[in-house]
Amino acid sequence: MTTRRFWVFIEQEEGEVHPVSWELMGVACELAGQVKDEALAAGDDVSVEGVLLGSGVEALAQEAFRFGADRVYLLDSPELKYYRNRPYYLNITSLAEKYTPEVFLIGATTLGRDLAGSVATSLHTGLTADCTQLAMGAGRNGPEKLLMSTRPAFGGNVIATILCQKQRPQMASVRPRVFPVPEPKAGGQGEIVREIPGVSEENAGAQILELIRGNAAGVKLEYADVIVAGGRGVGGPGGFKLLEELADELGGVVGASRGCVDAGWIEYDHQVGQTGQTVRPKLYIAAGISGAIQHKVGMQASDFILAINRDPQAPIFEVADLGIVGDVNEVIPNMLQQIRAMKEAYRESRN
Ligand code: FAD
Repeated sequence: MTTRRFWVFIEQEEGEVHPVSWELMGVACELAGQVKDEALAAGDDVSVEGVLLGSGVEALAQEAFRFGADRVYLLDSPELKYYRNRPYYLNITSLAEKYTPEVFLIGATTLGRDLAGSVATSLHTGLTADCTQLAMGAGRNGPEKLLMSTRPAFGGNVIATILCQKQRPQMASVRPRVFPVPEPKAGGQGEIVREIPGVSEENAGAQILELIRGNAAGVKLEYADVIVAGGRGVGGPGGFKLLEELADELGGVVGASRGCVDAGWIEYDHQVGQTGQTVRPKLYIAAGISGAIQHKVGMQASDFILAINRDPQAPIFEVADLGIVGDVNEVIPNMLQQIRAMKEAYRESRN
């Protein structure tokens, strides 16, 4: 009997797991479910497994079980406390050579992008980056289902589904928020497989001398519940002041189209879309954004989309739950006035 293993890299920093790892655990469970009948018929087993590297991180394995992992490979050692490319990719390569996973998913974070490419190169396998859909489907050369990794190509004009027919594991990276975080199961159980890291400090290739934290106060688009995003229709950098006011009233953050970032109206870390961030807020307000495909791929999974555009034919209305045909310079101040009046009325009713 062989075990068809679906692996997920559990990205953690100082003991805190990046939520994309759980998003991918949910996907891995679905993929495993899609081959279950085929595997059972062949007398094989299917297993969803996490790969966890770090120092003093064993407790995180329990979290992985709650998100659906059957097993977690744990490499716990002081040399792995902070991410460094070489020790991480060499250890994961050895692990993959030992356990031969069929599929390996990695979050397309800054760390994940660096790691995924190195692991794929070292294992001589293929990697489809920034996938927007994953499924197990029949391969061209045989009955066994293969990973079908779908992603936009050629500037978003083509949606390509890519197969890795011969090499293993079939690797894919996925940006945060492309898939939802699954509901954790209380009392999820699994097996921890403790492995000894095989890379010494001398062979690590880099030393960490000092950690300099990035701008922690920077915009956190990916996991925001409310995003008020502006496009070229806001008219200039000043237009974003109005959006900031609205975002503040709603407890949200400001996003932007690439048009505005390219024009220098707002910094890149606000950009939503194919070459910006993928978001999935409860409320996405698109103000003066035309709705180019490259923008839509980054925000169309939002729970509720409100589009404001003075052109009734703007493509953004195709994905909007509610559309207002109008000028942002009139609609937004009006919304602000209404929200403030409602808040005031609520405050008074409580006194
Ligand atoms: P425009 O397309 O110029 O639209 C402005 C809109 O505002 C129009 O619909 C107009 O009717 C409306 N408007 C004007 N004035 C007002 C007003 N006063 N009130 C209300 N409405 C008004 N784009 C992204 O956003 N994110 C990406 O990640 C991204 N990646 C890309 C990657 C590649 C490879 C390529 C080729 C392009 C990418 N783009 C991306 C660019 C994308 O194709 C569009 O050019 C861009 O999204 C347009 O930005 P916009 O909607 O702000 O501007």
